[in-house]
Amino acid sequence: MTDTSNTGKLSTEEADAFATRCRAFLTEHAKPGQRRNIAAAKEFQGKLAEAGLAGLTFASEFGGAGLSSEHERIWRSVSSEFPAMTGEFVISHGMCLPVLNEFGTDDQKRRYMPDNIAARTMWCQMFSEPGAGSDVASLQTRAERDGDEWTLNGQKVWTTLAHESDFGVIIARTDPEQPKHAGISMFILDMRAPGVDIRPIHQIDGGRHFNEVFFTDVRIPAANLLGEYNNGWRQATAMLMYERVAIGSAGSGSISQPMYDILLAGARSAGRVDDPVVRDQLMEIYAMETTKSLVAMRTRAEMKAGKAPGPGGSLGKLYGSVIAWRFREIAMEIAGPGSQAWDTTDGRAAELQTQVVGSFSSSIAGGTDEIQRNIIGDRVLGLPRDISVDTGVPFKDLKVGTVR
Ligand SMILES: Cc1cc2nc3c(=O)[nH]c(=O)nc-3n(C[C@H](O)[C@H](O)[C@H](O)COP(=O)(O)OP(=O)(O)OC[C@H]3O[C@@H](n4cnc5c(N)ncnc54)[C@H](O)[C@@H]3O)c2cc1C
Repeated sequence: MTDTSNTGKLSTEEADAFATRCRAFLTEHAKPGQRRNIAAAKEFQGKLAEAGLAGLTFASEFGGAGLSSEHERIWRSVSSEFPAMTGEFVISHGMCLPVLNEFGTDDQKRRYMPDNIAARTMWCQMFSEPGAGSDVASLQTRAERDGDEWTLNGQKVWTTLAHESDFGVIIARTDPEQPKHAGISMFILDMRAPGVDIRPIHQIDGGRHFNEVFFTDVRIPAANLLGEYNNGWRQATAMLMYERVAIGSAGSGSISQPMYDILLAGARSAGRVDDPVVRDQLMEIYAMETTKSLVAMRTRAEMKAGKAPGPGGSLGKLYGSVIAWRFREIAMEIAGPGSQAWDTTDGRAAELQTQVVGSFSSSIAGGTDEIQRNIIGDRVLGLPRDISVDTGVPFKDLKVGTVR
């Protein structure tokens, strides 16, 4: 019998049967070279939902498969043997979905989760502003209640895939009389609502992955308040923890070394694979990635045991960016100028170049390395916290971010 509790154990036969089912699906539908193809990801996820394998641990009433975290672990393990198909849904599924599930009303969950899980809709996260990134509680985008609606004005920035998204999870200031962490609420925003203006930001690697988003008198139905009024900071913190786990523990079903694989291919094509120094460097990345996999597996195991993702997620997130930086140094030594020159016709080389150029973003996206170190210092190691100068001061009396 299938175990639908979140913590129950599967028998060996049940686990094997489920792994076989996952493998059969992936063999048929996971195709190489589609990692950044949103249309392919939507098609794949739609088929996954039809097969009853999408949103594994979410309740079937809300579009999930209603299975256990053990099923999820098996899925992760099997899928790590196949090409990644839904990388572009890391925010939609890894962050927005658990937040909807944790804080949404049953009506909101019924309305939004099934489409999200099956990738009929895509979601983005709208936290950062020009004056509020690391200190996101300084945000100035405001939502004012007006009858049965809220009116939203302000600006977000660095919103990944806003231009592809149907909905966004947004935090806005709803009470400037409160101290800065207390007067924030979270909303579900229809990205096509009148007054939402999405402008792309062009990246060094030629991509257009994120955006500035401006809001002018955007109307949000009162029913789209997500969670409690003025409780947005607590919910945002929960979402940031899901984010660190989603980024830091990506592909954590088994021990894997994806950056090592890219470097090895780069070393082979540069004819350097027998160079003892290069071999040392390759093994360094291999060992780092192995360690990261083990940390990620521990984080996932804690979640499976019912623990909400805690500050320990910062460890995996930080280590991922340490690896990305070391990867860049080694790739530049091995491939020289070829590590950064664009060659769109050579898929393997382009992969190495994209990783080299993109390595900088891993230290910023999802919270900078310095902020992860602060969190680890404060909440994992128990070191004294940074001095706070604005505790208890109403937000309207603060000079924050872009306020002069
Ligand atoms: C690829 C990418 C995708 C992103 N996607 C999204 C998204 O989808 N949605 C979203 O809302 N945001 C997104 N962001 C924004 C990201 O969350 C912010 O850029 C990040 O939190 C840093 O904020 P900031 O850019 O304002 O830098 P700042 O906060 O201004 O930081 C500048 C520098 O000061 C340091 N610093 C700041 N405060 C401290 C402190 N207390 N102690 C020590 N050092 C400190 C920082 O570490 C950094 O080096 C994305 C960013 C990137 C790069």
